[in-house]
Amino acid sequence: MHNNSLLIRNVRPLGKNSADLLVRDGTIVALGTDLNAEGAAILEGAGQLLLPGLVDAHTHIDKTFWGQPWQRHQAGPRIIDKIENERRLRRELKLSAETQSANQIRQAIRMGTTHIRTHVDVDTEIGLSSIEAVLASKEHFRESMTLQLVAFPQSGLMIRPGTQALLEAAIDAGADLVGGIDPGAIDRDPAGQLDCIFDIAERKQVGIDIHLHEADQLGATSIELILERTRALGMQGQVTISHAFCLGMLPEAQLSGLIESLQALDITIMTHGPGHIAFPPIKRLYEAGVRVCAGSDGIRDAWGPYGNADMLERAMLMGFRSNYRHDDELEMILDICSFGGARVMGMADYGLEPGCSADFVLVDAETPTHAIVSRPPRSLVCKAGRIVARNGECLV
Ligand SMILES: [Zn+2]
Repeated sequence: MHNNSLLIRNVRPLGKNSADLLVRDGTIVALGTDLNAEGAAILEGAGQLLLPGLVDAHTHIDKTFWGQPWQRHQAGPRIIDKIENERRLRRELKLSAETQSANQIRQAIRMGTTHIRTHVDVDTEIGLSSIEAVLASKEHFRESMTLQLVAFPQSGLMIRPGTQALLEAAIDAGADLVGGIDPGAIDRDPAGQLDCIFDIAERKQVGIDIHLHEADQLGATSIELILERTRALGMQGQVTISHAFCLGMLPEAQLSGLIESLQALDITIMTHGPGHIAFPPIKRLYEAGVRVCAGSDGIRDAWGPYGNADMLERAMLMGFRSNYRHDDELEMILDICSFGGARVMGMADYGLEPGCSADFVLVDAETPTHAIVSRPPRSLVCKAGRIVARNGECLV
């Protein structure tokens, strides 16, 4: 008798033929028919669609207003306006990053997300307090959410002396990666910022995930500098460029050269399908073998009112903005919102195969594309074999 066994009958993995799924001790042990599951708890899948746990590979759980009274959004149009507005609100509202991150994690669990990479603010005003708060949430949810932290210099690095030491201290405290932001537009010292974060990454043996909102040639120059440093330090497979809007703005010859280098150096591009600006050509990157992942970015925070921490909704937005109408295109987007994110997070045991961690979602939909466009409630969410949400309710 296996008390830790769960058999779910009649599910359709990624829309394929019906099968039974057997989970034991947190791991998928079989996916097939006529499984011998003596002693297992049995659930009826009723032909629902089985998806791997969704992966939100870029968000900001320390800063969401989720669960708080509505805040009117009235920040100015520039990135620097939003950063300053956020710093002001942070002082006024005095929200707990631990409470807020827990609120977003629970919402993400309801929506079938099993893995999150979150950027956490580090600056000379708040120091490591948000890092410590999110680390506390990571510990609290350790059995129901895989959480990676990026130490993120939201307010700039070179322009705020003392930030470099704080980023290093954040890594020592338990952050998994070092972040960066617009080395030209915000710091006005692209080589300086990039040298600084690559140096931290090399010494601390961690990866890099850098926010790059810079447009046109400014962004392209920053990407060139990132490529150079990734190559020089042998950091293939450990660098992510988040947003990379400039990839949607460059002349063809320049774009194809960059895509070739991104692929060769195994640099991941993260996109969230932004509403306001050109963004990377997802299918072209994907087909060229560049790793692509996706995230919610900030949800319901000082930056804007949008977002539900739902990676199916994110997939819809990415597909809609890209004008993808074919099922194979939306299946690619779902792959990016699941396997793409798991790869960038280094999850070796991710997937629906026997031997994988039992992280999965059931939804009442016919196909992956149908799930993206209809976004039904997640009827069952399982993390490492544990049921963490049911019928849209978070149980943890
Ligand atoms: Zn972000």
